[in-house]
Amino acid sequence: MFELPQPPGEGAACLNLDEDALTLEILLKLAIGLPPGLARLQSIDEVARALAAAEKYGMKGAEEILSFHLRGPLSQADPLHTYVLTCRHGWDDVATSALEKVVRGPLELTQLPPMETAHLVRVLVARQHRIDHFSMALNTSTVFADDNGSSAYCRRYPGACGRGIPVAATWREFKIFALAAYAKAPSVDGLLSHPELAVQKGNLEGIFCRNCTKPIWPWQSVVDDLRRCEAVTLP
Ligand SMILES: [Zn+2]
Repeated sequence: MFELPQPPGEGAACLNLDEDALTLEILLKLAIGLPPGLARLQSIDEVARALAAAEKYGMKGAEEILSFHLRGPLSQADPLHTYVLTCRHGWDDVATSALEKVVRGPLELTQLPPMETAHLVRVLVARQHRIDHFSMALNTSTVFADDNGSSAYCRRYPGACGRGIPVAATWREFKIFALAAYAKAPSVDGLLSHPELAVQKGNLEGIFCRNCTKPIWPWQSVVDDLRRCEAVTLP
């Protein structure tokens, strides 16, 4: 750092550097063994700048310490940028952890940060895998066998009578909504926080057995089975 060529006429005590003050302060403190105050790096962009500077000046120790900082809450707040940054540095454990969150949330393809094609493909494949798996499970899983037929069956509520009733369209409408919501944010948690969920949930909860008057689709039972359908291992 102190050997960088400087413009003529500058005093010996003045160095012109590309890095911002916070980045330099943290790197210099790391270099001389003082607490660097990494908590002041409050965005992935700030960590990325510090990492770029550590690379530029050959500070391998600083890079390693910054990699530990990325294993903290910051990565949860911005998993996509964490994924891109840690892929670039080859920190696969953090990248995989960030990926697991990235593939569960909405993804705006026109606003993705620059990344290598292989890293982008990993995101898209993992995300599509979740969507396909959930769709297939919702359509074929035994937990929804009673719901996917031409009639609904009174079997979910404890003590239900088991009779069929001709209201399968209500379930079909819910399923169309669930699959569309899941394709945009592939997680049951995302589905449960969808702004239109209350209407769909109300439609299901409004159907009662005409024989024993018990609810056909008790909500917690439906949610539990949706989570069973989601059980998936990332590729
Ligand atoms: Zn019944």
